[in-house]
Amino acid sequence: MIPAAPLPLQPEPLPAAATASPASAPRWQRLWRDAVRDPRELLGLLGLDAAAAGISDAAAAGFPLRVPRGFVARMRPGDLADPLLRQVLPVDLEERIVPGFSLDAVGDGAARKAEGVIQKYRGRALLVATGSCAVHCRYCFRRHFPYAEETAARDGWAAAVAAIAEDPSIDEVILSGGDPLSLATPKLAELTARLAAIPHLRRLRIHSRLPVVLPERVDAELLHWLSALPWPVAFVIHANHANEFDASVDAALAALRGAGVQLLNQAVLLRGVNDHVDALADLSQRCFAAGVLPYYLHQLDRVQGVAHFEVPDEQARALHAALAARLSGYLVPKLVREIPGDTGKRPL
Ligand code: SF4
Repeated sequence: MIPAAPLPLQPEPLPAAATASPASAPRWQRLWRDAVRDPRELLGLLGLDAAAAGISDAAAAGFPLRVPRGFVARMRPGDLADPLLRQVLPVDLEERIVPGFSLDAVGDGAARKAEGVIQKYRGRALLVATGSCAVHCRYCFRRHFPYAEETAARDGWAAAVAAIAEDPSIDEVILSGGDPLSLATPKLAELTARLAAIPHLRRLRIHSRLPVVLPERVDAELLHWLSALPWPVAFVIHANHANEFDASVDAALAALRGAGVQLLNQAVLLRGVNDHVDALADLSQRCFAAGVLPYYLHQLDRVQGVAHFEVPDEQARALHAALAARLSGYLVPKLVREIPGDTGKRPL
């Protein structure tokens, strides 16, 4: 590792598309706005000494801290090694430039199909619905993504919807971001109404961390939208550790199931968070107890600023083998890595 200049500035994420004044806004939007954004406040809430935490103002300036208070409440007070805290705290290790770690590790730029549309795999198009997220995960593979230029919502979805409509080989649209559920529900409904006019679409997939980090987002309006969609929906949540679940998350996931969606989980293998077979087994079992099937365990995407989270491939394979030896097959996620130019996620 070699020390480096500060990380390039992350474009300011787009604001959540609020439809009401702050006082009458849905509860989830008020909770969203009330997120913790100051690393020192976060550490203070957990009774931790900021001087010992290795926090980095430079890393936080490039990719700000953001974490909902409900997620903070699931962290262990007084534990700097807490697996949820590690996922969100900006630390000085992020300032290092490590050979092999780049700004666009997964080739999003080369796979651009239209404004806000990325296509890497046959039949599937990913729509960058927004640049906003309720939580900022320090290991995020899109932490350097140019959201200001590449967000499908910008022109009322016109360019993105036209690109998908023009290609009859696309039968699945993936709403991603950022986090697509950071958009207000009427905005999502506007988008899916436009997509519903495309006859060759057969499935919708939604990638969202919100049911886990801000479960209040799963409200009656969202459930009504989901249950009225004209396609089968795969809803892929993102949890990396069993401690991310609590009763409010369970309730949100049960409500999503009630709306008829198929729930899957994707996790990222992260050093200091879940790089132990006990942690991975607990995660799979906790997912299943909440009605979610483990889907992918991603090997870290090698994005600048995240190298301290990397688990070597050999260790990743050994962990996965130990997991498979311990759990029923349906509880074992596929261990994969994304390689730019591949026709799908590559099994490790
Ligand atoms: S929720 Fe997903 S897109 Fe948003 S910061 Fe976390 S990993 Fe990145």
